[in-house]
Amino acid sequence: MQLSNTLCAFCLLEPETTSHLFCHCSVSWRIWNTWCRLWKVSLVFPANVRSMLLMWQQCSKSMINEHVWLLSFFSFVYSIWLYRNEAIFKGAKIDVNHFFDQGVLRLSWWCKALWPDVTPAFSDIVASPLRIGYVQPRTKILEAHGWIAPEKGSVKFNTDGAVEGSYGEAGIGGCLRDENSKTLLYFSMSVGVNNVVSTKMLAIKEALKLYNSLKGSHSSTIVIESDNQSVVGWLQHPHLAPANIKEEF
Ligand SMILES: [Zn+2]
Repeated sequence: MQLSNTLCAFCLLEPETTSHLFCHCSVSWRIWNTWCRLWKVSLVFPANVRSMLLMWQQCSKSMINEHVWLLSFFSFVYSIWLYRNEAIFKGAKIDVNHFFDQGVLRLSWWCKALWPDVTPAFSDIVASPLRIGYVQPRTKILEAHGWIAPEKGSVKFNTDGAVEGSYGEAGIGGCLRDENSKTLLYFSMSVGVNNVVSTKMLAIKEALKLYNSLKGSHSSTIVIESDNQSVVGWLQHPHLAPANIKEEF
């Protein structure tokens, strides 16, 4: 094995160890610090990933929204891993800003999948990640209305899609839960360049595809929830959908 193969794919300076890749590498460290600065947290250089997680948990106790803060740890760890794979296997160039945006986008998908009715609109989270932290007023509304579980014997898929601007890099996500609110599966993925409506339709298409792959082990009744009125309307009345949407779906 050549020495270059064992070097960190981000900085190409140090051997790739778990601690280096996820904590000590200058690239990863910039990502963590950029995120922590948004939350007004000063990060102390950790010994390894475990101690970083412990620091993260400790910090969460003073957070407005500790669940989102904790989730962000896993979102960025996972993003670092995926970005590292893209750099190694696809030769992707390291762009720290893009790298950071991907972490935020992923966190936004996860937030919307886990708390579809609690967090601000998906596009608002992506545009301004700090807004994830201010969910308190809507949490109170949730107590009254909340996520409504599907009827007995049914499952519900909450889906969403987000686009950079009105036409740009897009991502989709979804969360399937049963009548007891138990999460059966969730997904989040990039779908290239697209517009808002098509992206939301793609999210539903992916949800149905995943649901079909589960058939047999779960109920045959599925409820799909989407926050786009047009998309919901077209699903209920497919003949009203524009030709390009019909074709795609
Ligand atoms: Zn490195």
